[in-house]
Amino acid sequence: MAGLAVGVDIGGTNLRVCIGDERGKIKTKLSEKLDVGSKNSVVEQITRLIKSLGGDFSAIGIGSIGLLDLKKGELSNPVHIPFKSIPIVRQLKDEFDVPAYLVNDCDAGVIGEKFFGLGKNEENLAYVTISTGIGCGVILNGRLLLGKDGNATEVGHITVDLERKLKCGCGGYGHWESYCSGRNIPNFVRLIAKSNARLSSITTEQFFDKAKSKDKVAMEIVDKIGEINAIGLSNINAAYDVSLITIGGSVALKNKNLILDPIRKYLPKYSVNRIPKIELTPLGDDVVLYGAMALAFNHELAFD
Ligand SMILES: [Zn+2]
Repeated sequence: MAGLAVGVDIGGTNLRVCIGDERGKIKTKLSEKLDVGSKNSVVEQITRLIKSLGGDFSAIGIGSIGLLDLKKGELSNPVHIPFKSIPIVRQLKDEFDVPAYLVNDCDAGVIGEKFFGLGKNEENLAYVTISTGIGCGVILNGRLLLGKDGNATEVGHITVDLERKLKCGCGGYGHWESYCSGRNIPNFVRLIAKSNARLSSITTEQFFDKAKSKDKVAMEIVDKIGEINAIGLSNINAAYDVSLITIGGSVALKNKNLILDPIRKYLPKYSVNRIPKIELTPLGDDVVLYGAMALAFNHELAFD
């Protein structure tokens, strides 16, 4: 498909749109705080931003926070958005008279990696975000894994602790995300360093700053976070047998070595399958946006 396509990244806080070409060259990119003021405000905001991008385009790709109902092309009980369903695909198709394709944000991430990042020569790869939450997208044998509603590979909710010590945002206990995500690392720090006043009321950012300054207790906790991340990644590899896992999300992007080094150290301990390459995504904060745009050009990867 020649010409231009639009990519849309609906995050928990921000909405980003871009227009660009098949080779991943972004012409224009816009970003605003996501407006969740009314049921229609999200689609109205996307429509306004797309119109102000300018240029003719042939398709729209969307990577969104979940949950999704892909058969209906809807956001369904999305986190951070106080409305039950948002029929985004139909509304954007009607507005712009071009095809629109919706996947979850981490699925868009792995598509971005496949077409514009480190996955160009890979048929089996995963993208994992370690951000406010933890999520994953998987391409297996060249196809995007979607699941019955489009919510496959919600790996943040894999149980990693049988004792269920920490509560997850989903309401469950002992989930990967409840130990290692940006929102929950302070809880894990408190759990380990109860008696340590310096660490008991710390933010995730302050915690990693302490680790960067070689604080001994903080470094020990970084190691434990890395071990749990390695358990999560080894579960992904046991399930999907990928050759590459790229990692993004603000926690990983801001603390590359503190996240990646312990993962690489502990992966052999928990892996049965051949260990995949583990790399930080080179697409940074734009990985979902790139992926949404790539989806518009390569929708047969997910839908045909
Ligand atoms: Zn959970």
